[in-house]
Amino acid sequence: MMSQETKRFIGDLNLAELSQEMEALGEPVYRARQIFKWLYQKGISDWSEATDLPLSLREKLNRRFIIRPFELETCYESRDGTRKFVFRLRDDNFIETVLIPSGERRTLCLSTQVGCKFGCVFCASGLPGFIRNLSPAEITGQILFVRHDLEFSLTNFVFMGMGEPLDNFPSLAKAIEIMNSPEGMGIAARRITVSTCGLVPGIKKLKELRLQINLSLSLHGPNNELRRRLVPLGRRYSLEEVLSACEEYAESSGRMITLEYVLLDGINNSSKEAAQLAKIAHRLKAKINLIPYSPVPGLPYQRPAREAVEAFRDWLKERGAKVTVRQSKGLDIRAACGQLAGHFLSPK
Ligand code: SF4
Repeated sequence: MMSQETKRFIGDLNLAELSQEMEALGEPVYRARQIFKWLYQKGISDWSEATDLPLSLREKLNRRFIIRPFELETCYESRDGTRKFVFRLRDDNFIETVLIPSGERRTLCLSTQVGCKFGCVFCASGLPGFIRNLSPAEITGQILFVRHDLEFSLTNFVFMGMGEPLDNFPSLAKAIEIMNSPEGMGIAARRITVSTCGLVPGIKKLKELRLQINLSLSLHGPNNELRRRLVPLGRRYSLEEVLSACEEYAESSGRMITLEYVLLDGINNSSKEAAQLAKIAHRLKAKINLIPYSPVPGLPYQRPAREAVEAFRDWLKERGAKVTVRQSKGLDIRAACGQLAGHFLSPK
């Protein structure tokens, strides 16, 4: 009998791979679609629930495949309704997933890596360093767990949790394929957003998927000098390279780019930076999302006062930019942007 260790995650297979697996097991290929339906539409967590599969197949699947790639370690609920789920992976690493309710929207913020190798100076996710990539099952599993096991309905999905999604492109692409396919979760591409700190080859690969996925660029510094200081990836790819890749992405996907801009008091919030940021937004026909910084213990950055945030927003508006200020959600449970640390700094 196959041991627990040699079992694989069923969610690591796309439909084509699962069809091949059925053939190898001597089963009709149409079983793959049936299994997909059970996994992604009905959200089963145990093979015994797949009642229209023959018992012999359920037994084979049970010997070979694990459905849930992690378990819920703990959940924090913020005063504003934001929830942070901490999942314990099978190798005892932790990831965090955040559910953000806002009006009719319920957005799930997904992690793609344990830790992060890019070390943006204000972000908690890079503090433990990079540990490993998540597999496709560990990415889609966050949705399945929250949607089916915890029974929250979800409307939007953003890859803005721990890790740089485009640095784990194979897993990201397979997870998106399963999310977007009608046989899988059936989530429209327009409801999915990938956020990047500017990994140029990844932006190009995302373009090749030819889907209407939203792209969000974490800019934070509107000139090369400041960006290199705040986002070390800026030393590898110049602002010009990143902006051209985004321009090409917007053109081919038909989606408007969002520029994410964390406001760090006294660092990147002067009128000079506002003028530079407005110019970039104009060039990309992008909207700007200002994120007043949510402090991370041990890091020296501060959130600007409300008046300073409003002044920065107004300088952008005066230059014709489309700008919103993101309301910080989940501050009291360290679930806000840049605060996810995989239990490393989680509230106890
Ligand atoms: S902002 Fe994103 S890329 Fe930068 S350290 Fe944090 S998780 Fe990594």
